[in-house]
Amino acid sequence: MNALAAHPLSADETLTRAWSVLEAVPDPEIPVVSIRELGILRAVNRATDGALEVVITPTYSGCPAMSQIAEDIARALDDAELSPYRIETVLAPAWTTDWITDEAREKLRAYGIAPPSGRCASASPASNGNVQPIRFVPRPVAAPACPRCGSAHTERLAQFGSTACKALYRCIDCREPFDYFKPY
Ligand SMILES: [Zn+2]
Repeated sequence: MNALAAHPLSADETLTRAWSVLEAVPDPEIPVVSIRELGILRAVNRATDGALEVVITPTYSGCPAMSQIAEDIARALDDAELSPYRIETVLAPAWTTDWITDEAREKLRAYGIAPPSGRCASASPASNGNVQPIRFVPRPVAAPACPRCGSAHTERLAQFGSTACKALYRCIDCREPFDYFKPY
């Protein structure tokens, strides 16, 4: 149907298969969501030398989980016999909680982690190809709702929860502590 079908079909099939294999790789810290749902997995391309190029962006620079994620990706591709491949970490544009899919936000809530509230208003499609600046200023947000009972009466206990990208909160109504995935 397509006059542009000059590429060997097998190459496209490999890319499709690699993508579906990688979509299933869970986040090492929050195994209920995948690296694709968190927006860590950015792209799967074929390099000019024929190798697969997997592009990942860490949730924040220095995230200790990134080496684990690269290992998990390598194992998934090895298991699917999709080598040769390269895993490339790209830092710009910087990852933002906006990249977390709506589906993943619901999974986080069900897992007991309050998903990041709101969206970054400054996030817009880069139309001019410029790299977006990293946002250092946290936006003031309303307290997250309790992921267990939905109450808005919550208080922050600590700036950092089980990992640096989460804060520890407590629900005043049901008294349960919970992690809040901080928006940035
Ligand atoms: Zn509660």
